[in-house]
Amino acid sequence: MAKFCTNCGSKLNEDEDVCLNCGKKVKKNKSDNTNVSTEQNNPYVLTGFILGLISMFCINLFGVVGLLALIFSSIGLSKINKTNQPGRWMAITGIVLGVIGLVVGIYLTLS
Ligand SMILES: [Zn+2]
Repeated sequence: MAKFCTNCGSKLNEDEDVCLNCGKKVKKNKSDNTNVSTEQNNPYVLTGFILGLISMFCINLFGVVGLLALIFSSIGLSKINKTNQPGRWMAITGIVLGVIGLVVGIYLTLS
């Protein structure tokens, strides 16, 4: 749904709360984001997820990157479970990627 400035009537983007045309503050239609902090992704999860991707597609270092991805994602997931933060799927994906990266790394090292 498009929003319009209450002052000058110019069209606004959904996530803007200040009119770019006249500079007037616009009231948000959505309920206020009082829980902004919970919307941020857990840094452990993000790190684990990225490491998991790196271990899949770039560098594996004998499975070490996969192991790190597994560790970071596990820490992130335990924190998510305590605080009910979003990003559980990302943590689980990071763990899965980490396990695969670890197994592939060990396999490549031993073969
Ligand atoms: Zn305006």
